[in-house]
Amino acid sequence: MSVMPRPIPRELIMSRLLHARMEFSEQDKWNYLKLEKGLQGELKFDKLVDEGLKNDCIVIKGLLLEADGNEFQIDMVIIFQGVIYLVDVKNFEGDYYFESGKIYLLNGNIIKDPHPQLMRCESLFIKLLQKLRIDFPVESRLVFINPEFTLLQAPLDYPITHPSQVKRLIKKWNTIPSKLNKTHERLANQLISLHKPFSSHMRVPQYEYGRLKKGMMCNLCLSLSTFVNGNHLVCKKCGHHEIIDAAVLRCVKELVILFPGIRITTNGVFEWCGIVKSKKMLGRILKENYKAVGYGQWTYYIPK
Ligand SMILES: [Zn+2]
Repeated sequence: MSVMPRPIPRELIMSRLLHARMEFSEQDKWNYLKLEKGLQGELKFDKLVDEGLKNDCIVIKGLLLEADGNEFQIDMVIIFQGVIYLVDVKNFEGDYYFESGKIYLLNGNIIKDPHPQLMRCESLFIKLLQKLRIDFPVESRLVFINPEFTLLQAPLDYPITHPSQVKRLIKKWNTIPSKLNKTHERLANQLISLHKPFSSHMRVPQYEYGRLKKGMMCNLCLSLSTFVNGNHLVCKKCGHHEIIDAAVLRCVKELVILFPGIRITTNGVFEWCGIVKSKKMLGRILKENYKAVGYGQWTYYIPK
C-alpha cells in the first residue's frame, strides 16, 4: 500500500512558477527540464507499482531525508517484512555503454553514473536506521524506466533494472514472503515524519519580484496567456477553465512560495494577478478564505 502521494519537489514547483514568469538561461532551462523528466519517470514507475505490487508492504514515494548532516533523496522506499528496498528511478533516453566504471552516451559524452549516488543514499539510509535503533537489511535498485533506454556492457553485479524488466521486478517483489506488523508501520511513520519539505541545495534561477511577469498561470499548461471571463479563469492556449476563486487562491499560494513571508494584501494580489479588473472581488475572495488583520487600507491577510 502507498502511504502518501508522491510529493512534487519544491525546486520543481518553483521552477515551474518562474519559467512562466521570466526568461531562463540555457543552463536553467536544462535543469528545469531534467526535473520535469525525472518526475515523469517516477510517476510512470509509481503507476506500475500501484497496479502490480500486491504483496503486504508499505510504499513511500519521494523521501528527502538527512543523516549525519547529509541530505539524501530516495525515489521510493518499499518496506517488506524482512527487507527494505530503496529504488532510484532514472528516465534516461538513448543508447549508453558502460566502461571502467563510467557510463557513456554512444556519441561519446560521459553521463554521471547514478550507481555511486545510490550507494551513498543506501549508506546514509542505513545510518539513519541505526540512529532510530532499527536493524533491517537494505537493498537498492536502479530502475531505468524509459523504453528508449539501453545500457550495453553493464557488469553483472550492477543493480540495474532495464525498462523491459520492470514488470518482472515487481512480480519478484510479489513473491517475497512478507507479513507486516506494527513495527513496520511505526518505521514508515517515522520516515515520513523525517521527510524534509524542501532541499537546502535547491537550484532555481535568481529572481526578483520587479522582474517577474505578472498574471495568472493556467493550472493545466502553466501558460500565462489567460483571461478572466465572468467567474472563470480561461486559458487561451489550452482552453482550460478554472473557477476564479480557486485560481486567485492558487496565485496567492504561488506568490507565497516564491516570496515566503510576503504580506498578502488586496493591492499586492491585484498587482500579482494582473488580469483581474475588480479589486473588490479580490478583497472578497481574500476575506472569505483568509483572516484579515489590521484595518482599512492597512489590512493584510494571514491563513485562517
Ligand atoms: Zn492552459
